[in-house]
Amino acid sequence: MIHPAELIERKRDGGELAADEIAELVLAYARGDVPDYQMAAFCMAVYFRGLTTGETFALTDAFVRSGETLALGQELGRKVVDKHSTGGVGDKTTLAVGPVVAACGVPFAKMSGRGLGHTGGTLDKLESIPGFRVELTTAEFVAQVREAGLAVIGQTLELVPADKQLYALRDVTATVDNISLIAASIMSKKIAAGADAIVLDVKVGDGAFMKAQPDALALAEAMLELGRRAEREVVCLITDMDQPLGHAVGNALEIREALATLRGDGPADFTELVVTAAGHLLARSDLGVDDVEARARAERALTDGSALAAYERWIVAQGGDPSETALPTAPVVSEVRAELDGYVARLGAIRIGHAALRLGAGRRTKEDRIDHAVGVVCLKKRGDPVRAGELLAEVHARDEAAAAAGAREVLDAYELAAAAPTARRVVLDLIA
Ligand code: URA
Repeated sequence: MIHPAELIERKRDGGELAADEIAELVLAYARGDVPDYQMAAFCMAVYFRGLTTGETFALTDAFVRSGETLALGQELGRKVVDKHSTGGVGDKTTLAVGPVVAACGVPFAKMSGRGLGHTGGTLDKLESIPGFRVELTTAEFVAQVREAGLAVIGQTLELVPADKQLYALRDVTATVDNISLIAASIMSKKIAAGADAIVLDVKVGDGAFMKAQPDALALAEAMLELGRRAEREVVCLITDMDQPLGHAVGNALEIREALATLRGDGPADFTELVVTAAGHLLARSDLGVDDVEARARAERALTDGSALAAYERWIVAQGGDPSETALPTAPVVSEVRAELDGYVARLGAIRIGHAALRLGAGRRTKEDRIDHAVGVVCLKKRGDPVRAGELLAEVHARDEAAAAAGAREVLDAYELAAAAPTARRVVLDLIA
């Protein structure tokens, strides 16, 4: 029988806990036998002292054991691949990667989340599509992946309830941004959902959890190690979130951009990330192809119409209307224009995320309702030359007042300079 106060004290003083002590603490917390105040103190001790690799794995394993798990590979008789992003602004990657992977003959089954704060959620984006159902039973989910090759839903099973409880506690006790706690939280959900191979997109920049590259690298390394210990293949991409991904930020606007990308006509940075992530998933699937061939197949799917056809099959299977004209549009579109000649030196992701949030594209509390039509389209990105009076961005709003306020915020997010900034690659790093 553990004594939580003794474990908290040991961690506070920089000691190491045994795997069974961590397991008992987490499982007792999930049962309601350890109160929030002790768990909050434990998280704060971890925040300052960190966890060893062994402790982080014990925490991950205890999270997984706190709830149900899905054996997707067994259900489908295939190797199952999954992707996860640590979250950002304009991050619509799943909407294009899923169809590319499915078009190449690899099942793609994903449980996604909703947006909170300045980051968007895949489920909210999908709900812009009239008729689309994000709530399927587990049996419907598996059947759809078998028949249509692709399904993206909200969480159905009680996967990792201990993480859900602990995440809510961390959120209000300033203990979210600790690398061990984030790594255990993300990886426990991927492991419980049954993926054999996982591509993790770790965002770095002002719109991401990790603001600096060394922290993103440390988070990626922690998750790779958890994957190794859980016998899952994991690849981490470390990608830029100092500016929004692609042009569009906002739910229906992002679906439109994903559709353009599936037609082979997407923004360069977004297309590059889609092809890179899909390529790594295909190379780790049961197709038996190497990285070069996998990337070539992903590129081909975007130009030969097969990814677009997979998207249409998927949306129809989940009850939605796949045509672009069915998506909602905002009644007011205002233009943001450059005030001087020069280059875009910075385009703050967090500022654009907050502008979209205030327009109604996101939610501040879990109960807020989303306006699927509104958002921002950043036509000019970092490094682009601009002339005074040229269009930088569009603000899609519900009314004139919201459009005017949004336009001011978006203009503030742009920093123009006389000289061109040095270019940064989209995919900054890759570790496996
Ligand atoms: N995303 C998660 O799922 N968990 C964290 O702790 C942080 C981001």
